[in-house]
Amino acid sequence: MKPVLPGATLGILGSGQLGRMFALAARRLGYHIHVFSPDKKSPAGQIADKEIVGDYDDLDAIAAFAKKVDVVTLEFENIPIDAALAAEKITPLRPGPQALHTTQHRLREKTFLKTNAFPVTNFVAITDALPTDFPFPAILKTAGFGYDGKGQFKVTNQQELITAWQQLDQQPCVLEAFVPFEREVSVVAARGLDGTVVHYGVFDNTHANHILDITTAPAILPTKAFKDAIEITSGIFEKLDIIGTSCVEFFLNHDGSLVVNEIAPRPHNSGHLTIDAVTTSQFEQQLRAVCGLPLGDTSFQSPAAMANLLGDLWEPATPNWSALLQFPEIRLHLYGKDEARPGRKMGHITALGKSGAHAAGIVRAARAALQSPGV
Ligand code: AMP
Repeated sequence: MKPVLPGATLGILGSGQLGRMFALAARRLGYHIHVFSPDKKSPAGQIADKEIVGDYDDLDAIAAFAKKVDVVTLEFENIPIDAALAAEKITPLRPGPQALHTTQHRLREKTFLKTNAFPVTNFVAITDALPTDFPFPAILKTAGFGYDGKGQFKVTNQQELITAWQQLDQQPCVLEAFVPFEREVSVVAARGLDGTVVHYGVFDNTHANHILDITTAPAILPTKAFKDAIEITSGIFEKLDIIGTSCVEFFLNHDGSLVVNEIAPRPHNSGHLTIDAVTTSQFEQQLRAVCGLPLGDTSFQSPAAMANLLGDLWEPATPNWSALLQFPEIRLHLYGKDEARPGRKMGHITALGKSGAHAAGIVRAARAALQSPGV
């Protein structure tokens, strides 16, 4: 299969910040970009040559979009599978519909993990009745279309379970055992057309209100846990035949064992620090993989940390950008979103440091400065 070379046109399904950072990497390498999503003036659309505004259910519009590009990738796993199949009929879609279909639905994802002997927390499917003997504490999650803790409840007894399921309109759900983890970690990696896998090591993630808050690289963890995390990630990529950059999110238990929480079949928020800290960012890696090019170097210049900037920082007043930009180590990334809402990812900042902890201290201090009174 011939590689898709600079000068060609790449299509992205979805148009948020992940698409934007992919488009920026593609632009730097001399590619053209078309994006397809229901949104106008989107973060990715602002960078693209063409922003096609359409509904994912409009398969004719998807087909017309696919005809104009050399390869299609995605930045959002909740693309309806029929849209992915319609695009794939016309142009290579990477990663393919199998990876998308499995990972966009928690029940299918967990079943895939269990069937293939990857470590996953104990779970049951809930379709039309609740189990009466599932141990508590547990987490009830909608089976489809959930992210950043949306559509999920921690429950500690049967009554809470009943109430939580009612609040989720008795949709199909997954009930899973609560994992009393020590930490959350992730592996961002890329798999090329020839099956080669490259990775960025293991990242340490802390969350606030179920949303990623700070990522630190490298994670400090036992050698065996590191090896296991990489091996599990490569195994999952192979089984799903992923072509592109994807991420596996893990819970690290106190005994050093790992449990897979989620697979994201696209670049991941925890990988944003690769833009500033690594020769080949997760977005360039995605591009190289989907274009059939050799994958790039993943070594870090130094330890690094990333802090998300959520819409909450726009309250009570516009963030104090001058205060932030006085930090010489800080690289600021904003996603071009007009409206700041609580919980909405508006941008992120990255710092390199002598250690992960040092870099994390810098991003925390810089972010706090955003809320200092302006001049
Ligand atoms: P998710 O949307 O499934 O990634 O969940 C968002 C966050 O909720 C995770 O990053 C964890 O902090 C927490 N969480 C989800 N599932 C579990 C679980 N089974 N045990 C403990 N914490 C969980």
